Amino acid sequence: MNTSEHDYLDHFIETIGREALREIQLKKFQLLMGRVLESNAFYRHKFIQAGLAGARDIRALEDMQQLPFTIKQELSADQETTPPYGTNLTFERERYTRIHQTSGTTGDPLRWLDTEDSWKWWAKCWATVYKAAGVMPQDRIFFAFSFGPFIGFWSAYEGAHQLGALSIPGGGMSSYQRINAILTHGITVLVCTPTYALHLAEVAEEQGLDIRNSSVRITIQAGEPGASLPGTKRRIEVAWGAHCYDHAGATEVGAWGFECQSQKGLHLNEGEFIFEVIDPVTGQAADEGELVVTNLGRTGMPVIRYRTGDRAKLLKTPCDCGRSYWRLDGGVAGRIDDVYIVRGINVFPSAIENIVRRLPEVGEFAVDIFRRNLLDEIEVRIEVRDTDPETLAGMVANEIRNNLGIRVKVIPVPYGILPRFDLKTRRFTDHRNP
Ligand SMILES: [Zn+2]
Repeated sequence: MNTSEHDYLDHFIETIGREALREIQLKKFQLLMGRVLESNAFYRHKFIQAGLAGARDIRALEDMQQLPFTIKQELSADQETTPPYGTNLTFERERYTRIHQTSGTTGDPLRWLDTEDSWKWWAKCWATVYKAAGVMPQDRIFFAFSFGPFIGFWSAYEGAHQLGALSIPGGGMSSYQRINAILTHGITVLVCTPTYALHLAEVAEEQGLDIRNSSVRITIQAGEPGASLPGTKRRIEVAWGAHCYDHAGATEVGAWGFECQSQKGLHLNEGEFIFEVIDPVTGQAADEGELVVTNLGRTGMPVIRYRTGDRAKLLKTPCDCGRSYWRLDGGVAGRIDDVYIVRGINVFPSAIENIVRRLPEVGEFAVDIFRRNLLDEIEVRIEVRDTDPETLAGMVANEIRNNLGIRVKVIPVPYGILPRFDLKTRRFTDHRNP
């Protein structure tokens, strides 16, 4: 692997030793706490209630563990009580210049404000994502996404600007128009969700447009997990004839995860965030469990010890790229509550996705879980192309049984009938009574 200094946004910090890195994190955290305890009503109230006298109480990073976690419901309740933005604001309202909101897939949308400084910080985190993937200022980046109030692609766009690359927004276009724009502008980097990268490839094929030999050399997947699953990554890479990189972030948190060119796990951007992984039941530190994040550069509306709900497994060994930042093995492995117990077996959606995506004859897929005659049943609908539907269905059922130890009913359906989205695709539906 040839990593050059061009592949880092900040070579010094990204490759610094662990001890020195923790010192930098502590200094940034103390600075943030000082500001927050002074004028952020939400955290001031929360932490003083928890017994923290002042920022001076934080002498080492370990002291953080005395602070309570922040959960999403708390932030929603705060915005409900003090509409429309809640009390997690460190500065007076006039200082904020950007507003976004969460997609609202898991409840009411959360509204989030950023100051000019916080917005620059977002862009910097994204610039790290691009640099690590080998994106250069001379690249041309296309964003295949409807630009609405969701922050992900706006921040990605801003990050591309900070990098100095030419950026083309793909909002308000059909898939066909987007492919044409990619070909016309000689796009070299595509940013979109993994689901949508696959959908665009399908549309291109239907229209007889050759994207595999286009100038796109890198795809960066954002907005939903999946690009770390080997089956999905490989499929995107084959369809686009490009290297596919995963990325992770959240509206409340920032762009916190990126993949380097070694592509062995998702790096945690520890220069800008503090990460913890906890047992979701006990709240104790663990190597595998729920990811908890504190952002260090978004002072205007920060999150401190925020429980992301993302399932993660820490990889603490040094990476081939030379970064000392820890990684998540296999990226975000789904949501903590995104596990279905079927006939006593834990079924993870990502595990099924990884199996289905390995078979190129399968288009989109959908999974439904039913309870019939007191028995749980899983039905997997698969779109079939260019092969015998029954044979392929049998193959998928076998693969799932051999790999996951569960029997599922696989139903072949015509190609192109299952829904495709450009954000937060839901493929799993549990029809059982809670
Ligand atoms: Zn690396």
